[in-house]
Amino acid sequence: MHEMTLVAGILEIAEERAREAGAARINTVTVEIGRLAGVELSALVFCFETARLGTMAAGAELVVCELPGRGRCPACGADAEIDFYAALCPACDGCLQVVGGRELRVASLDVD
Ligand SMILES: [Zn+2]
Repeated sequence: MHEMTLVAGILEIAEERAREAGAARINTVTVEIGRLAGVELSALVFCFETARLGTMAAGAELVVCELPGRGRCPACGADAEIDFYAALCPACDGCLQVVGGRELRVASLDVD
């Protein structure tokens, strides 16, 4: 499952940062996920609750901040918020290029 791989990466980053901070455990992991990243949020949370066992984040909560997709029109330069790929420009009906919404990163941690 794709989400399990993502969760493994998230936990790895979180534990590394917690260790660098000299923390003993992780209370909250906040991740930012773009709407176009292709992540199933319910699956991500489910995987996190399984994968966190035995790690520094064993009792941690996963907080997801969803970022909107952003497209820019190469023809007229218009910016638009988009929910899917291959969206059309609201100004000239050109094909928008995706410029945001594919990110997936650990934004912050709350540790003890
Ligand atoms: Zn346009």
